[in-house]
Amino acid sequence: MTQAQRMYLVLLGVPGAGKGTQARLLEEALGIPQISTGDLFRYNLKNQTELGLLAKSYMDRGDLVPDEVTIRMVEERLARPDCARGAIFDGFPRNLTQAVALDRLTAAGGGIHKAPLVHLEDEEAMRRITGRRVCRTCGAVYHVEFNPPKSPGVCDLDGGELYQRDDDKPETVRNRLYVYYKQTSPLVGYYFAKGLLVQVDGAQPIETVQAQLLELLGVKTPLQG
Ligand code: ADP
Ligand code: AMP
Ligand code: ZN
Repeated sequence: MTQAQRMYLVLLGVPGAGKGTQARLLEEALGIPQISTGDLFRYNLKNQTELGLLAKSYMDRGDLVPDEVTIRMVEERLARPDCARGAIFDGFPRNLTQAVALDRLTAAGGGIHKAPLVHLEDEEAMRRITGRRVCRTCGAVYHVEFNPPKSPGVCDLDGGELYQRDDDKPETVRNRLYVYYKQTSPLVGYYFAKGLLVQVDGAQPIETVQAQLLELLGVKTPLQG
């Protein structure tokens, strides 16, 4: 496989829009890994690494972790062999500095292929975030009402315990939305200007959003033959 055949996708959308949910499904459908900077920070926090402890104060407030450490973490992740055919970025880039850095990191592989924006109203995003539950072991994402596990509090995939993220409390969520509009939303214009933006209505059921994303990416779903 040549570098030019790599597929790099950037998922955009407010916190709670469904980026992580869709990225995990795309990972299965496309066979390229999801890179979630939020998941990477939470993994580091769980393992009490230096990076995790540094990130914690920012995450607790709902602020962005400094660009330098975030970009270095992504660079290291991208160098791993499972990224040989591309990657699906979820929660990265979060500002223009990160977006420019990502262009540099992916340039040799042909740059960003598409930037799908998952649209959702803030009030619905709040409902999604406050009902979100995450598996302590595998990071799978559920919703107590909209996407419940088969048995409450237990991950369908590995039996792991489901917990509520500390930063999913309403006070922190409000700041995360503020940070999104101030720092991350300009990326919509950034990718539109490059002709890479595609948009999907995130208020639809998970499977519908997924089918539309695959169609926008030019990948046929089994139903479409
Ligand atoms: P993000 O990564 O954008 O913050 P998540 O993928 O974690 O968002 O989704 C936020 C919450 O909304 C989770 O609890 C998830 O189960 C739920 N969710 C995701 N997509 C949908 C959807 N299309 N309809 C209803 N709930 C959804
Ligand atoms: P998420 O899982 O994407 O909701 O991210 C949770 C938290 O991790 C954010 O509120 C930030 O504090 C931090 N974080 C995740 N991704 C980034 C990023 N690309 N840049 C800076 N901070 C990030
Ligand atoms: Zn699990």
